[in-house]
This record gives sequence, structure tokens and C-alpha cells, in this order.
Amino acid sequence: DAKDAGRNTMRFYNPVMQTKVNHQSQMEAALRKALEEGNLQLHLQPQLDEGHQVFAMEALLRWQDPDMGWISPADFIPVAEASGQIVPLGEWVMLQACRLLAGWQQNKAMADLTLAVNISARQFYHPHFVEHVEYCITQTGIEPRYLELEITESLLIDDLENTINKMNLLRGMGISFSLDDFGTGYASLGYLKRLPLSQLKIDQTFVRDLLSDPNDEAIVSTIVALGKSLDLKVIAEGVETPEQAQRLKELGCQAFQGYYFGRPAPEAHWLTSL
Ligand code: C2E
Ligand code: MG
Ligand code: MG
Ligand code: MG
Repeated sequence: DAKDAGRNTMRFYNPVMQTKVNHQSQMEAALRKALEEGNLQLHLQPQLDEGHQVFAMEALLRWQDPDMGWISPADFIPVAEASGQIVPLGEWVMLQACRLLAGWQQNKAMADLTLAVNISARQFYHPHFVEHVEYCITQTGIEPRYLELEITESLLIDDLENTINKMNLLRGMGISFSLDDFGTGYASLGYLKRLPLSQLKIDQTFVRDLLSDPNDEAIVSTIVALGKSLDLKVIAEGVETPEQAQRLKELGCQAFQGYYFGRPAPEAHWLTSL
């Protein structure tokens, strides 16, 4: 096999792998250009409480390339994470998010809204992360208690002490934390009580088949119970139908986000419809 042929010999050409590599470096170059040329924007998706009042918006990054069209974050965020571009990209998102928030805080209809920003592990662990967040807050003059960071369990498998310290620093500034995609990762439940979290976000994979799959119902109930005992708000993402919303409510879920309530849209859309 290839190994027997010697370490320095590339015996087999793997077209699939090659395509992936090309795709990856093309994507990196295009992404760099997008950041320079301003082809990125934030869309916002509402989060609603039990009374269907909007209390927060999640910022979701959108990239419209002049040649390739709309590119999904599910495709480019992993590339940006792998290349390290997530750091400048994430900094752009954070400053942009704080600018939006600063505008809302001058606007009666939006003044009480929290803005949730997704943060990748690599971004969070960057040595200048906290400083940059502080810079954005000072630069825009926002009230930081309206800023929420959505982190995932992938952040918690690393250096837990370091994670907790960093979270506490940000928490001390007034920022809150939501644990995104909850239930899909590896976080031990013992970690949860040590983290300064405000919210658990039930992953959309448990919402999708909630009405037909008793396992999903059991998982949702378990997360709700966990949230109650740890004093964390529980929100469900990916709510697409009124039936799902109703079932989630019956199971004790306190907040909702999904296409049923509103798709991610540019700020201008919400300014006129809230
Ligand atoms: P996420 O943070 O878990 O965001 C939820 C995703 O589900 C979003 O996809 C959203 O548009 C989509 N969604 C919302 N409601 C529904 C629904 O009812 N049904 C279905 N099927 N989907 C729904 P999107 O915008 O494509 O983002 C994908 C992921 O990319 C996000 O998952 C997040 O992990 C990442 N991402 C997005 N923006 C950023 C960003 O600014 N920074 C970082 N680091 N990651 C981001
Ligand atoms: Mg999120
Ligand atoms: Mg999520
Ligand atoms: Mg997700």
C-alpha cells in the first residue's frame, strides 16, 4: 500500500481530497475579499418569551458574494475556524453587533432588546478576545447587559479553568452567556453549574421531530428540568410550526426561536415590524 512505498512518495492521487483543499483555499481567499469589500452583513432572528413578546435578537452572519451568490455560514464558518479567519471575521461581527445595539438603545421600541452574538471557540480563546469586546463596548457606548454571547459545548472540553475565568471577566462587564446547540456536545453536566451561564438553548435537532419522536420529548423535558434546577432560562431553536411551539410550552420551555416566529432578516425589516 501507500505506506510501503515510502514516506515521501505520494502514491495515490485522491481527487475528492484535492477538490476539498482547492475549495477550502478558494473559500479562504473569497472570504478575505468579502471582509475587505464589505460583502458581509448581519441578519437578525427574534427570540420570544411565553407571551410571544420579542426579548432578544440573534445576529446571524450573511455573506453575499458577487459571483457565488449567498454562501451559508454552515459552509464558511467551519472554513474560517480552520484557517483562523474567524478571528478578524468575529471581530467584525462583534463591532457590527455593538453598533446595532447602540442604535437600538436610542430607539424606544428596541431599547429593551438583547442582542445575541455567536462566538466560535477559536475566537473565544484568542488572547485579545476580551480586550476586543471591551473595545467594541467603549467605542459604541452600549449598555453591555444587553449583549449576550452564544457559545457551544465545544468550548468546554478544553481548558475549563481558563474558560471559566474568561467567562467571569466578561460576566463582570455585564455580558451574559447562552449555551447554544445544547445536547449535541460533550459537556459534562458537572461543568454546567460552574459556568456563569444565563440560558440553555435546546438544539434544533431535538425540536424537529418533537411531535413524533418520544426520545426527543424526553430530551427536551430533561433539558428543561436541568435548566430549572440550575436556574437557567431554556430556549428552543428551530421552532417551525405552532404545534412544536405548543408542545415545547407544555414541556416547560420558556422561550422560542425559529421560522414559525420569524426568519433571520436584515435590521431594517425589524425596525418597521416590531
Ligand atoms: P446557530 O447559532 O445554532 O444558529 C441557528 C441556525 O438555524 C441559523 O442558521 C438559523 O438561520 C437557523 N434557523 C433558525 N430558525 C430555524 C428554523 O426554524 N428551522 C431551521 N431549519 N433552521 C433555523 P445559519 O444562519 O445558517 O447559521 C448556521 C450556524 O453558523 C449558526 O448556528 C452558528 O453556529 C454559525 N454562525 C452564524 N453566524 C455566526 C457568527 O457571526 N459567528 C460565528 N462564530 N458563527 C456564526
Ligand atoms: Mg446561535
Ligand atoms: Mg444553535
Ligand atoms: Mg446550530
